[in-house]
Amino acid sequence: MFFLRTLIFVAAAVLVFYWLRRARSAKPTTSVEDAPPTQGLLRCTFCTVNFPASDAITVGSDVYCCEAHRLAAKDDL
Ligand SMILES: [Zn+2]
Repeated sequence: MFFLRTLIFVAAAVLVFYWLRRARSAKPTTSVEDAPPTQGLLRCTFCTVNFPASDAITVGSDVYCCEAHRLAAKDDL
């Protein structure tokens, strides 16, 4: 009977130890989807890549990430 009680006590202690360790290491999860939208990014009309607005090449309502894509989009017309 003493052996059984000791076994149960050790099992409970191990469970509490792992539970505490897991609770302590749990960090608040922030996924990419939860992140606020990044300011100052535009989407290239040609390749649909997001890039900084400071690098934008704007032609009318179209925005391009680089001169090559502006020219490529113009060639597609
Ligand atoms: Zn592009």
